[in-house]
Amino acid sequence: MKLEAVGLRKYFPVASGFSLRGARGWVKAVDGVSVEVAEGETLGIVGESGSGKTTLAKLFLLLERPTAGSLLFDGKAVADFGRDDFVRYRRAVQAVFQDPYSSLNPRMRVGQIVAEPLPRDSGMSRPMVAQRVAEVLHLVGLPRESPALYPHEFSGGQRQRIAIARALVTYPKFIILDEPVSALDVSIRAQILNLLKHLQEKLGLAYVIISHDLAAARYLATRLAVMYAGKLVETGECDAVYAEPLHPYTEALLSAALPLHPSARRQRIVLAGEVPNPVSPPSGCRFHPRCPRVLPQCSSQEPEWCEVRPGRFTACHLY
Ligand code: SF4
Repeated sequence: MKLEAVGLRKYFPVASGFSLRGARGWVKAVDGVSVEVAEGETLGIVGESGSGKTTLAKLFLLLERPTAGSLLFDGKAVADFGRDDFVRYRRAVQAVFQDPYSSLNPRMRVGQIVAEPLPRDSGMSRPMVAQRVAEVLHLVGLPRESPALYPHEFSGGQRQRIAIARALVTYPKFIILDEPVSALDVSIRAQILNLLKHLQEKLGLAYVIISHDLAAARYLATRLAVMYAGKLVETGECDAVYAEPLHPYTEALLSAALPLHPSARRQRIVLAGEVPNPVSPPSGCRFHPRCPRVLPQCSSQEPEWCEVRPGRFTACHLY
């Protein structure tokens, strides 16, 4: 089973005054992204805020419709889905969001929250639903009495465990993790990341982890995709990208992250300027106004996406 984005684009109209009819332009949040994730693997999608990674997550979760390109599930385009295909997709692809405080309804008991993604016509009786809820709460390490309690009776880390249990209840194959530990105390983050890793090994799940936190992405990811201003700039096996980043943006991003080993040293690359305005991104390579290794052709020619060495792809005129 595979989840695949092919040339995916998502443009949002920029309103002219109060009307959307005469849109002044387009925010190109995701602009021609192709990635895939297969059963059992973890794809880390990293980049600064404004890179388009959260919009990409929403496209995977069918919370946004693509402007162009396609999303394929098990080889079939979502655009051609019938009702049964959507039900199957929603069971197979679940999500855990950043903030366990706002993603859980405070008026619902945990038992109802966790059971929510199960379709009403799933054919499961109430005792079967209760049993499945108990199973997933046990899997994430929450106490037996949890279904009767409300979210406010749990700590931040426990709430994220509830969100993970809710994602597991439909027996998914893929879980989109959108900044899954960013809102948690540093002391709790490792516990949640360990839990996610344990669940992956036990249940054979595939993850797409969307993160600006490179340490969290590295802990889980087998492959890495780096985004900048709506485009992919580099993909490859996670360890290979960390050991030798190809694209100057990846290099700068990694130089700002803490090394895995305290004795490992990396020269910090400080980027000038800001992430570009997505309404009018720079011509040529979108990174050129900030690139420390810019070439004369970078401002006018867009670099092509190419395989620089086996399994290592990037878009940069240096290669
Ligand atoms: Fe830098 Fe040019 Fe490569 Fe863009 S294409 S990253 S500007 S060297």
